[in-house]
Amino acid sequence: MSLHDDTAMHRAFALPGARLQYGPDKVVKVEHIELYLEPDLQAQTLDGICTTTVRAYDEPVERLALDAVDLTIASVERDGKPLEFAMRDGRLEIRFDPPLAPNERAAFRVVYRTSRPRHGLFFVEPTAEYPDNVRHAWTQSQDENARYWFPALDYPAEKQTTQTTIAVPKGLFALGNGALLERREEAGRTVYTYRQDIPHSTYLMTMVAGPFVEARQADAGARNVPVYYYVLPGREADGQRAFGDTPRMIATFEEKIGTPYPYARYSQIAVTDFIFGGMENTSATTQTDRTLHDERAHLDFSSDPLVSHELAHQWFGDLLTCRDWSQAWLNEGFATFFECVWREADLGYDEYLYDVFGCVARYLEEDSERYRRPIVCNSYRDPIEIFDRHLYEKAGAALHMLRGELGDGRFWRSIARYVKQNAERNVETLDLIRAIEEETGRNMRGFFDQWFYRGGHPEVEISVAWDAKRNAATVTVDQKQHVDDANPAYRFDVDLGFCADVPVAAAANAGPALLGSERRIRVRVERAHETLTVPLDFEPQLVRFDPGAWLLGQITYKFGATLAAATLRGDPDPVARIRAARELAKDGTQTARDALREAFERDPFWGVLEQAASALGETRAPWARDTLVAALHHAHPKVRRAVAAALGNFRDASVATALLPVAQGDASYFVCAAAYASLGKTLDPRAFDVLVDAVGRRTWNGTIEAGAARGLAELGDARAVDALLEAVRPGRDEGLRRAAAGALARAGELLYSERTRIVDAVVQLLDDPMFLVQLAAIAAAERLEDVRALPALDRLARSGFDGRVRRDAAEAAIRIREAQKVPSQVSALRSDLDTLREEQRTLQEKIETLSRH
Ligand SMILES: [Zn+2]
Repeated sequence: MSLHDDTAMHRAFALPGARLQYGPDKVVKVEHIELYLEPDLQAQTLDGICTTTVRAYDEPVERLALDAVDLTIASVERDGKPLEFAMRDGRLEIRFDPPLAPNERAAFRVVYRTSRPRHGLFFVEPTAEYPDNVRHAWTQSQDENARYWFPALDYPAEKQTTQTTIAVPKGLFALGNGALLERREEAGRTVYTYRQDIPHSTYLMTMVAGPFVEARQADAGARNVPVYYYVLPGREADGQRAFGDTPRMIATFEEKIGTPYPYARYSQIAVTDFIFGGMENTSATTQTDRTLHDERAHLDFSSDPLVSHELAHQWFGDLLTCRDWSQAWLNEGFATFFECVWREADLGYDEYLYDVFGCVARYLEEDSERYRRPIVCNSYRDPIEIFDRHLYEKAGAALHMLRGELGDGRFWRSIARYVKQNAERNVETLDLIRAIEEETGRNMRGFFDQWFYRGGHPEVEISVAWDAKRNAATVTVDQKQHVDDANPAYRFDVDLGFCADVPVAAAANAGPALLGSERRIRVRVERAHETLTVPLDFEPQLVRFDPGAWLLGQITYKFGATLAAATLRGDPDPVARIRAARELAKDGTQTARDALREAFERDPFWGVLEQAASALGETRAPWARDTLVAALHHAHPKVRRAVAAALGNFRDASVATALLPVAQGDASYFVCAAAYASLGKTLDPRAFDVLVDAVGRRTWNGTIEAGAARGLAELGDARAVDALLEAVRPGRDEGLRRAAAGALARAGELLYSERTRIVDAVVQLLDDPMFLVQLAAIAAAERLEDVRALPALDRLARSGFDGRVRRDAAEAAIRIREAQKVPSQVSALRSDLDTLREEQRTLQEKIETLSRH
């Protein structure tokens, strides 16, 4: 629900057909679900018996409708007597005769089968294209797909205890929720029984079966909970690299949250072709096997964000569950914020802050390019639609802001109270607001209105001037976003710091702490244009805006080169240094150039340099190119990756010469990939052969090949299209195929003459059996803006198997139709562009040939 409407300048979030969602009324309380499951991995069927214990509310119950899709029901009975039932429109309707009396408890048993289900339960098997696949099965119930593998009242506000018995061929492993009660051998089968004693929602129920290898980790936390991970044979070492930090994370989160890890054990199981990154099934998280990684990837890739996110859900999501999906930020915003919390505990404050900064950046991108909506929002067609960058990243960053607003002590005490008070219950935003008020006395309704019930954010510009006559600093805070009566200026308190001198070098992990000579004041900003005059007995050499970067928004410094250079050199807050670096890159004066060059020599934090590199790349200026080339061998692989990527903005043989050995020889997969991608952008004549060679390689998760595919697309060369069509075909790595789908779209933009076969290939990919490739194909179709993709997109928007497919296809179709309104000159211009590129290439080759002589 939206309290404000400042979406006028943005696309609407709600698609045609969206309606206000509230969740159903309750007819009975479900107390317990007991499942007996026999998956057949060869036949891809599941035989099940689901026994559900319900209690009527205060009225008699004659009919009960359970969610159940494509299940073949053999029988429904209560106490051995058959009950009348019917399957109708995704529901199993049961008739109690006589009706349940008020408050009466009843257990009924449904015997059913599902065969090659469309959703909810997935079977992986070796295929002609992927002969190395290992046969196994996994479920994915969120958000409303448990109903594809057992009948249930399938929505988050229903919580029950569960018991899951899974019978698999002898020697195979099976995982369910909760404590392992029993593992027994019988008649050539192994039978596992799990019991979940703390009530949870059906979307958190899981079954995984296959030849998994078990690894037991150190017991963790105050209750010494056993911790396990499960991987398919051969991936044991990769599993240790991915999941090794889990016990330490449990201890850290317990300490922060104040409630011990709640369940009997914690397991993570890595499955193939998973349709998410991870899924926080209660006590038994499913993870994508793409997070398993070798030693080379471990250099600059970590599974910790994924692992910490899913682990945090065990409290935020599983123990406290959003009442309905409109409140899902209480799951996802918290889980995202706790990724940052783990990073702080593990790697320090700079990493924490940079993680939050990344959240803000990803949210801002969605806001500017896709749509704007309030975080709390109940207008959608499919619940999965709201699982976006607002729900995760904006909400995560808003929790960081809440931490700043309350201060560490009060923030963490409020979180602890919220968790204790609401454990095992369903929650909505108001429960958090109340917990904060009860703990601290602070009334945060205004804060939540502004950040959670209203879309958008402030776009702030800060400038500073020194008035020597009056000995006063003037700080101007301008809110540049659209402001009117319906969209008032944002109100926030912010710290300003003024320092008499600049530290010689920025301290690492100093947090928002005071500097030695700093004078800190707190000011209230509430008008679109605020001028704050601060009398000082010294001219500040360093001015700090919002140390700790609490404020969520688009924040731009207009400090001038001298002050910005001082910030980049000495402000311990990495986000301040990033903002200064961005200003300096735009400024481009000698002061700015020197400051940026120096930063690459001595800034203590890679994140600052990552952003500085990207800002330098955007300038496309020769001086920036030289700074980047010099930084291409920086010690930190993430800096090299960003520098290599930024160099793609320079179309120049010397850049290609610098990138080539990096692409072919860097220690990091990701640096190689970025260098290959940029190499393509240089349009250097040497690039084509090198890229074709690289795209044919087989590296971890297709990482290097994906970079090469992106590079090939940039060449605007018809021969590259052949290589991309080869890269996108089934049999190649999923990651490569996704990148190649995007690369084909890029090639289609550059090469009008190749569009028909590119569009054909992308349209074909729209029905690819790999879910994530399908999503990449939808994005590619949108980018191509070609009407020939519309019939397939319209079909997917109506009847795609997953809500994300339906949502993305609908958005893509809308964008393509909008694009058609642009005059048809566009196609003629595209054709001209092709010709110009061809001429450019010929000229470049001539220059190359001449310069060799
Ligand atoms: Zn999540």
